[in-house]
Amino acid sequence: MDCIFCKIANGQAPANIIYQDKKIIAFDDIYPKAPQHKLIIPRKHIATMNDLAKDDAGLIEEMTLVAQKLAKELNIDQTGYRIIINCNQDGGQIVYHLHLHLIGGRPLMFTG
Ligand code: 5GP
Ligand code: ZN
Repeated sequence: MDCIFCKIANGQAPANIIYQDKKIIAFDDIYPKAPQHKLIIPRKHIATMNDLAKDDAGLIEEMTLVAQKLAKELNIDQTGYRIIINCNQDGGQIVYHLHLHLIGGRPLMFTG
């Protein structure tokens, strides 16, 4: 499958990886929209939120805990941050491998 995030997870494409375990990997967003912008993904290829099966729902929980840990390490836990999952066209999804954005380091405006 030609998926850039699968390739990053498999080590077939480069990324600045900042966290990994058996199920989850996190790395710098290549086009950061804020001073801190990390992506947290499951190793398993799940295209969108619509494709998240009940059995995999625990992955979202684990991804949020990785976000919490990274926010602390990046020292944005007290100033604040945002976690975002975009779904399909209107949600602004560009990469069709489920991912959670961790964004912080400046005040964030709502962009709806
Ligand atoms: P989406 O809009 O799908 O929610 O977000 C995709 C994110 O992935 C974007 O913020 C984009 O900058 C980032 N991105 C796209 N291609 C690559 C890549 O090859 N490497 C990394 N590290 N980030 C990428
Ligand atoms: Zn993938």
